[in-house]
Amino acid sequence: MTVTVRVPAKVNVQLAVGPARPDGFHDLANVFLAVGLYDEVTATPADALRITCTGPDADKVPLDRTNLAARAAELLAARYGRSPDVHLHIAKDIPVAGGMAGGSADGAAALVACDALWGTGASREELLEICAELGSDVPFSLVGGAALGTGRGERLTPLEVGGTFHWVFAAADGGLSTPAVYAEFDRLTPHAGPPEADPVLLAALRTGDPFALAGALSNDLQPAAVSLRPSLKDTLAAGTKAGALAALVSGSGPTTAFLAEGAEAARGIAEALMASGTCRSARTATSPAPGATIVSGSATSF
Ligand code: ATP
Repeated sequence: MTVTVRVPAKVNVQLAVGPARPDGFHDLANVFLAVGLYDEVTATPADALRITCTGPDADKVPLDRTNLAARAAELLAARYGRSPDVHLHIAKDIPVAGGMAGGSADGAAALVACDALWGTGASREELLEICAELGSDVPFSLVGGAALGTGRGERLTPLEVGGTFHWVFAAADGGLSTPAVYAEFDRLTPHAGPPEADPVLLAALRTGDPFALAGALSNDLQPAAVSLRPSLKDTLAAGTKAGALAALVSGSGPTTAFLAEGAEAARGIAEALMASGTCRSARTATSPAPGATIVSGSATSF
């Protein structure tokens, strides 16, 4: 018996960052949009917790208990008084350490897969609670679509999206550490104001108009990511030159995101980015995408 769960990556169409709080976290107004680049996590009964991973970035994924998929299995098992004996296989397609919440996605997927495999029958609220414990971006990976995250980003309000958006994502060589990018943000922005969602951006999502969304995209972490990785400027410029309506760093980077007018324009921008030599790879994807979804297998208890 196995259960496979498919889970999307995300892009932040707005990431407004407030000052550092006493606990070290930052208050955010974080508008998440799930995009159709997916990891798949397959859960199979085993004698002990074990993680395996395949995919282009597999060598960068930790296979020990620091993997968010392993932590998700452990938290769910502890809550239901059982041992987390499961083999979790991650088929990884989301760039690692790319600011697209790939680890968070795997945590949410593992949680849904183990819940189904073990027949724990946890409620949606319980699963969301465990997600918030795993990390700020994990609850959104569970729900998908589009949502405004406040607090550390984990308090979610679903948002309406009125159409399909076409994107190109350019992966960079090497990752950027999210804590390092926040530290650089603190250095560059000693007097950050309170973060607020932009009503113009929320309206653009509702209408599904890519031109309106392009004018409203913003990421307060972008100057920090570019400061740590100046070559991102060249990638952003190459995508803009190729006709992107807007270009921005995805989350804490170093993946860059380009909004296109439609599917054909997106393909052209991806080709131009590949030819520019300013990125490792460039791929098209659409949004919104559904959250963690069981794609095969069935629930059982044993
Ligand atoms: P975010 O957008 O949430 O800031 P990210 O996309 O930049 O995250 P991840 O791909 O989630 O970054 O990886 C960040 C680090 O987390 C990795 O360098 C790795 O050490 C660790 N990690 C833990 N679990 C996983 C996982 N399942 N997949 C990838 N990385 C993981």
